[in-house]
Amino acid sequence: MVNFSSVYGPVKSWRYGRSLGIDPIGAISTCSFTCAYCQLGDIQYRTRQRYEFITTETIAADLQQSDFASADVVTISGSGEPTLALNLGNIAIAVKNLIAKPLIVLTNGTLLGDASVRSDLQLFDEVSVKLDGVSAQQIERINHPNFSFDWQEFWQGILYFRQNYAGLLSVQTMFLSSWTREEKKTYTDLMVALRPNHIYLNVPTRPKPIERSLQGRENSKSDCPSHQLHCLDRDWLKNFAQEIEDRTEIAVNIGG
Ligand code: SF4
Repeated sequence: MVNFSSVYGPVKSWRYGRSLGIDPIGAISTCSFTCAYCQLGDIQYRTRQRYEFITTETIAADLQQSDFASADVVTISGSGEPTLALNLGNIAIAVKNLIAKPLIVLTNGTLLGDASVRSDLQLFDEVSVKLDGVSAQQIERINHPNFSFDWQEFWQGILYFRQNYAGLLSVQTMFLSSWTREEKKTYTDLMVALRPNHIYLNVPTRPKPIERSLQGRENSKSDCPSHQLHCLDRDWLKNFAQEIEDRTEIAVNIGG
């Protein structure tokens, strides 16, 4: 892949304004999920093993070349699951030394059972955890884990992290279809137990690229051939957001 840089943007984010992206994963998309809606296309390398993909020095050098001054926030996300980067903690420290802006990480939560991952995430101002289902079956259908998925282990990792994290925790949920009354109740119960600072509900706004495209990390439309995704009725989403707010008093925003 030509002209790869570990830093991109700033790109417009519906949640965070102008977001400077940092990609600690690199040219080959790597994740523990292969979500049905992933903007990277089908994940090329599926793993739950942590590894140093891009050196911290390379990321710091790319940052210094970037337009970081015009960004509102810095977000670590990029070409897969950022907690797979073994040097995530060092990257966070390097970014904080260079840029005085809020530092956010987007994670799919599958490595939160690992104490070293939880320790790295303590360095961030905001951790945004993906939660696209309330059962192993739902997660398997939407996120296609590359390992034997255990709902209890997954949820306990998220809960345990929350108990020991003083920063902002947000939950982001993507809907590909409407949920049953039981699923909605379970989700709201989970939010009552977790007490995130913010909940973001979203629907896919772009088709899923068939092939890996670097553009996928930038919220921009890819030129690659793509699969069209079913789009959920926004009134359903608005009603569910209101139900969650009424019951939990947690702020809920809708994107897409
Ligand atoms: S967790 Fe994120 S990077 Fe991984 S497959 Fe899902 S959308 Fe793509």
